Amino acid sequence: EALVGNLIGEKHPNYILMYNMLTGIRIGVSRTQAKVKRPLTDEDYSAKHKYSFDIVGNELTPSAKYDFKFKDYAPWVFRELREECFHLDPADYLLSLTAKYILTELGSPGKSGSFFYFSSDYRFIIKTIHHSEHKFLRSILKEYHEHVKSNPHTLLSRFYGLHRVKLPRGRKIHFVIMNNLFPPHRDIHETYDLKGSTVGRVLSPEKLRQNPRAVQKDLNWIDNHKQLELGPEKRALFIEQIRRDTAFLKRANVMDYSLLVGIHNMKRGNRDNVRRNTLHVVQPHDGAIRRKPSQMKGHRDAGPFTAGAMRRAIRQSELKPVESQTNLAEENLWDRQNFIFYQDEGGYRATDECNSPLPTIYYLGVIDILTPYTVFKQVENCWKGLSADRHKISPVPAGEYGERFWRFMNAVTRGGGGGESFKPVEKHR
Ligand code: ATP
Ligand code: CA
Ligand code: CA
Repeated sequence: EALVGNLIGEKHPNYILMYNMLTGIRIGVSRTQAKVKRPLTDEDYSAKHKYSFDIVGNELTPSAKYDFKFKDYAPWVFRELREECFHLDPADYLLSLTAKYILTELGSPGKSGSFFYFSSDYRFIIKTIHHSEHKFLRSILKEYHEHVKSNPHTLLSRFYGLHRVKLPRGRKIHFVIMNNLFPPHRDIHETYDLKGSTVGRVLSPEKLRQNPRAVQKDLNWIDNHKQLELGPEKRALFIEQIRRDTAFLKRANVMDYSLLVGIHNMKRGNRDNVRRNTLHVVQPHDGAIRRKPSQMKGHRDAGPFTAGAMRRAIRQSELKPVESQTNLAEENLWDRQNFIFYQDEGGYRATDECNSPLPTIYYLGVIDILTPYTVFKQVENCWKGLSADRHKISPVPAGEYGERFWRFMNAVTRGGGGGESFKPVEKHR
């Protein structure tokens, strides 16, 4: 459960999967990106673009090391989400993910069986998702897009792409690309995953001893007397955004999501330096884009190389001539500076009663938002048949889940109302 994972080198069992995912992203995204932007239509939300890769190559796809099929879902919608809603520089996005064919795998940190991969610079996370989650995201994509448009400061997971890789033996792997809430340049000293439920929501002391950065849960939060220290101003903004985001999730019938909280203690700083020391460089094998070492460090001051690199990326992956370059951003937008909750060193800095800064930065987001109540119910019932103690999870309908989540979030932020405390209703351990 730590944020340090296994680097996927060529000998890793998932190397081929990683190679195929990154190749598909590189070709799919740059092909969409190379076209002249146009207004979205309703069909764009259900669109899927198919690519077939093989070692020979054809006029649509360059040759790849392996045979596989790739599907890019709603590519125009995700382009719009990335550029218009999340202010991502297109070149930066592609470079972060595919400049080096290297990912760090976080061996399945949840119960769901999903795998998580970090891009080599830790800015993005690839999460493999269940077919039902994939179907669900497609079904709510339009509403999600609307929500994000009218809530530019949303705390919900930022989805940048939805894709599928199909391996020759028929295995289909769906995955999303999303933001890593935690910044690559800061140590996260404590992590909590909060749902507002207390049933079974505890990380055992042994596990915490083994790894002090393991993800803790609601009961640990309560036992540690934690509070999000936010002065009246920041608290009001946070609570209002959570209210709007949970209202959306309730309407979409989603449950089982959580608030992920990473805590950076500025006094403690970065001396542990865990993740950054795990970075290695592995050269890509085909025409993958390479980034010079001087270009790898920061995003803020990456300067004018991005548009040029983007053009190279497009040229390398496209056999057809590029139709237009006019929409490529010339300046590199640092995606986080535009957003209230990600504005302080990529996070949200704690403040006191007078709204003056305190030496803590929170990294916050609502994650795991692709489980509709119906699916959760099915899975749970299936578990019940297998083992008696699985129903501890106590699913509640989306409306109830959202209410409980919202009440908990009100209680975990200090300030404003003067710190009403959360009283767990069902405390079993
Ligand atoms: P389950 O359904 O059992 O809860 P899951 O496989 O759906 O698990 P998530 O809940 O999405 O997984 O995430 C599991 C953990 O991965 C989180 O607690 C967090 O530590 C990490 N994680 C997930 N998304 C992000 C993100 N966007 N940024 C940083 N860390 C993340
Ligand atoms: Ca989860
Ligand atoms: Ca999940």
